Order: sequence, then C-alpha cells, then structure tokens
Amino acid sequence: MSAVTRGGTPWTPQYVEAINPKNCIGCGRCYKVCTRDVLTLVDRGEDDDMDEDDWDDEDAKAMMTVKNAMDCIGCGACGRTCPKDCFTFVTA
Ligand code: SF4
Ligand code: SF4
Repeated sequence: MSAVTRGGTPWTPQYVEAINPKNCIGCGRCYKVCTRDVLTLVDRGEDDDMDEDDWDDEDAKAMMTVKNAMDCIGCGACGRTCPKDCFTFVTA
C-alpha cells in the first residue's frame, strides 16, 4: 500500500508486525511516541511461555506488545526510537 505526503511525494507506510520479546527492556520509548494507541506494556509474569533465561535483560520486568495492530498508520516512529532494535515492520 502506498500513500503520499502533504506535498504529494509518494511514501510507503511501514506497519508494525512484531516486537521481539527477547530484546525488549520495557523502557516505554516506543509507547510514548505512538499517537495511535497501538502498543501496550505488559508484565512479563503474564507470559507463561517465557522465563527469565529467555530475555536479554533479566531486570526487565515488563515488555511492550502490540495491542491494536489494525490502528497502526505505519509511521515507523516506534522502531526509530527503540534502543534495542525490537521492531519488525511490513508494508501492507
Ligand atoms: S508505526 Fe507509528 S502508528 Fe504504528 S505502532 Fe509505530 S509509532 Fe504507532
Ligand atoms: S522502545 Fe524497544 S526496548 Fe523500549 S519498550 Fe519499546 S520495544 Fe521495548
């Protein structure tokens, strides 16, 4: 899917596909820059599929997840602000 800027220049939205739970440190940077309420922070204790050996920073008690994927406008801001390169994107 393609879009245009206000000036009419074509650009391709990059929609959030996934957040790597292994790398995430729960810093909240991505959450703060998202204007669309796509992301939400969850307690790692709620994820029965992982234990502390499965993630990089064992002090990270929370991790970011995708809550409303269909509300993403594909701006890419979350990925640019993430210090741990957690995000993967798709173009449609
Ligand atoms: S790409 Fe933009 S709209 Fe989508 S989750 Fe990231 S910051 Fe939010
Ligand atoms: S910016 Fe990256 S490391 Fe920080 S909460 Fe978001 S996904 Fe996790």
